[in-house]
Amino acid sequence: MPEKTLPTTHQRLTELAQELPTPFHLYDEQGIRENARAFMQAFSWSPGFKNYYAVKAAPTPALIRILAEEGFGADCSSLPELELSQRVGITGENIMFTSNDTPPEEFRRAAELGAIINLDDITHIQALEDAVGQLPELLSFRYNPGPERTGNAIIGNPVEAKYGVTSEQLLDCYRIARDRGVKRFALHTMVASNELDASFIIETARMLFTLAVRIKDELGIQLEFVNLGGGIGIPYRPEQAAMSYQEVSDGIRALYEEMIVPAGLDPLRLSFECGRVMTGPYGYLVSKVRHVTGKYKDYVGLDACMTNLMRPAMYGSYHHITALNKPGDAPTKAVDVTGSLCENNDKFAIDRELPVMASGDVVVIHDAGAHGHSMGFNYNGKLRSAEYLLHPDGSVTMIRRAETMDDLFATIEW
Ligand SMILES: *Cc1c(COP(=O)(O)O)cnc(C)c1O
Repeated sequence: MPEKTLPTTHQRLTELAQELPTPFHLYDEQGIRENARAFMQAFSWSPGFKNYYAVKAAPTPALIRILAEEGFGADCSSLPELELSQRVGITGENIMFTSNDTPPEEFRRAAELGAIINLDDITHIQALEDAVGQLPELLSFRYNPGPERTGNAIIGNPVEAKYGVTSEQLLDCYRIARDRGVKRFALHTMVASNELDASFIIETARMLFTLAVRIKDELGIQLEFVNLGGGIGIPYRPEQAAMSYQEVSDGIRALYEEMIVPAGLDPLRLSFECGRVMTGPYGYLVSKVRHVTGKYKDYVGLDACMTNLMRPAMYGSYHHITALNKPGDAPTKAVDVTGSLCENNDKFAIDRELPVMASGDVVVIHDAGAHGHSMGFNYNGKLRSAEYLLHPDGSVTMIRRAETMDDLFATIEW
């Protein structure tokens, strides 16, 4: 089976696991930068192309700042996410605010920051006007294609999704917004999650381009940009292949020439709000083996648990595990890799064939850089672990300290 790569040597990772309290997340700055550049490069034909990084994937300022330096904006869906982005220097229309079931104070803050507000619901036109006092100059709407599009496995069927405005409502949204003074318009959708098939993303572009033409034909409104959402997947399994940005870009470019240019809609800016693919593969959860035992099954217990990475427990997701310093011909055994939570789904792997391990061994859980630390929680009194950044020169800095018991108790009235 092909192996997954690590950002540095087994020896260096083992040393880090001795020096720093485990578990911790380690992010590979060089990997993040090179990937971000490759994404931007693939779309260099498209003036003003932007990825609004979905900060929920890994809302750590050092990481958001790296992506901002590479030209990314921020996709936020809550007040704290807006504040984080603003504090790392992403401001104004470099922020896209895509919320749902939105409280008025979040609309107000987004408007104050000059963020692009992307409305999830036809009733939010009024809600936004009520919250802010007026509609902004630029407004975007999130489209939910419903039965016109089959969702993918993780995001599910669009008909069942709480997000976005329906096909029937969409044109009314633009009409109402225009009649109430909005001058600039954008269109957004988010129909994929963890998708590895480039043609699915290209089809999303076709769907949005078709709507852009319709909006122009029926309302005379020329959209300023379309946002294809996030959802580009990552190859969690070693045998999977990453989506080719070039293939996505080439497919979208062909549709742009075929649909947008003849309709007189050029230039139409393109954007994404990918999170997972930007940090996911470049984050590693480093953990030590606590105990190895046999019951009705064989177990390897780690000092990490599902509060450090809940995807396997929540979605049954595969995350590759590398046991460090084991030769290729080391004996293996099928084990369940567990954490210490009082929940039997607290497992990183079930019946996984891994090199035979002993207490003190170090393991690396791959693709933990998105929806990993950020989905952490405090159940069972577990404290959130630290995050570190591995720089291109090999040095490592802490970018978020571990929680202490005082942090955990800080909100309690004793
Ligand atoms: C989660 C989310 C994203 C990012 O999705 P990824 O799968 O991480 O790329 C983008 N936009 C919206 C509205 C989201 O909810």
